[in-house]
Amino acid sequence: MFRPIVFNEKACTGCNKCVEVCLMDIMERNPEKGKPPKVVYPDQCAYDGACWLQCPCRDKGAITIVPPLPMRVSILRGKGRSKS
Ligand code: SF4
Ligand code: SF4
Repeated sequence: MFRPIVFNEKACTGCNKCVEVCLMDIMERNPEKGKPPKVVYPDQCAYDGACWLQCPCRDKGAITIVPPLPMRVSILRGKGRSKS
């Protein structure tokens, strides 16, 4: 299944800050307290990074944004150009 946002259950505290800041409303709170949110509209993700930026546990890897492959390729190509 396509998953733009991946949570690490061990690091995520279920604070839901990521749910609150997502302008696209792709996530919903987990009914189980302390558990990571659920991604309900994965194809609506804008990959803007707001959820990751606001996550208090991002340094522990609680949340990871996984761009689709074509986007990853263009990011890498962009990096290559900026170095030359
Ligand atoms: S990257 Fe943006 S659109 Fe995607 S889940 Fe995070 S805040 Fe929402
Ligand atoms: S991923 Fe981060 S912001 Fe989202 S619920 Fe877990 S700890 Fe909170």
